[in-house]
Amino acid sequence: MRGTVLYGPGDVRFEDREAPRIEKPTDAIIRIAVTCVCGSDLWPYRGIQKIAQPTPMGHEYCGIVEEVGSAVKTVKPGQFVIGSFCISDNTCPNCRNGYQSGCQNLEFMSRAQAPYLRVPSADGTLVPTPDIPSDDLLPSLLTISDVLGTGWFAADAANVKLGSTVAVVGDGAVGLLGVLSAKQMGAARIIAMSRHERRQQFAREFGATEIVTERGDEGVTRIMDLTNGIGADSVLECVGSEESMMQAILSTRPGGSIGYVGVPHGMKLDMPPVFFHLVRLHGGPAPVRRYLPDLIKLVWERKINPGKVFDLTLPLDEVAEGYRAMDERRAIKTLLRP
Ligand SMILES: [Zn+2]
Ligand SMILES: [Zn+2]
Repeated sequence: MRGTVLYGPGDVRFEDREAPRIEKPTDAIIRIAVTCVCGSDLWPYRGIQKIAQPTPMGHEYCGIVEEVGSAVKTVKPGQFVIGSFCISDNTCPNCRNGYQSGCQNLEFMSRAQAPYLRVPSADGTLVPTPDIPSDDLLPSLLTISDVLGTGWFAADAANVKLGSTVAVVGDGAVGLLGVLSAKQMGAARIIAMSRHERRQQFAREFGATEIVTERGDEGVTRIMDLTNGIGADSVLECVGSEESMMQAILSTRPGGSIGYVGVPHGMKLDMPPVFFHLVRLHGGPAPVRRYLPDLIKLVWERKINPGKVFDLTLPLDEVAEGYRAMDERRAIKTLLRP
């Protein structure tokens, strides 16, 4: 089998490696239907996050179960399944509290940019769809694995509800699907912050009512102008830089909430603004597993079309071009077909 391996900055290879096999009785092997490149894959690709050795890549996946270990009960060969980028047992106290991304037996998925994938804790991690999906549903189903699940968590953590005024910091795939999520949760106004014309267009299609092109202090001033000097009820931080976090904090109204899902890089949080702005902060790696059943239903019934966020589709063996296109911002998100 061939799979995707990152060797160092800018060096992605699709090369021979051992096919996955059942290692523990709780494992499943799935045949990948579609996978993709994540914005977070770009951190090591750009060398900002160091890797010690050649690293198999990919953590967003869905596909058909090929084989299960002897202890797997809820997932069967032949089923189409989706799992989170977080592997969880779904039985420990943290999972039962809905925080499967804080599971006591947490593992992070990798190796999914390949035709076959081993999924540990299959019963706790994978959720089957009602039937084998038609081909046009695959991109949307795949987004649930991470980008949609993460955008949804950002909106949920930011306490978006009916009538909320929401601001979204970050116009990557997660930010755009954060807009979609806020819209689904009934937000009255959704202000997307983006300087990129095509991404602004996507944000509008997903439900943004206003666009702010300014960043930093000027961006905050614009949000304040748009909200009568009060700030947004809910702000989704979908970048992970110090600048974007400060922008989120200063754009939130007193008593408002920030859902932050951008993986922090080089960020130090300046506490006085958090203190004096009276904001709530909740975020981290999204407990996607909690949302899987509901999000599968929304996609299955075609109530949402998050798969639109993929603006480049490539055969899996051209994965290196998929990384390049996202790195150079030619693509928002690359879908890969084995
Ligand atoms: Zn991801
Ligand atoms: Zn758990």
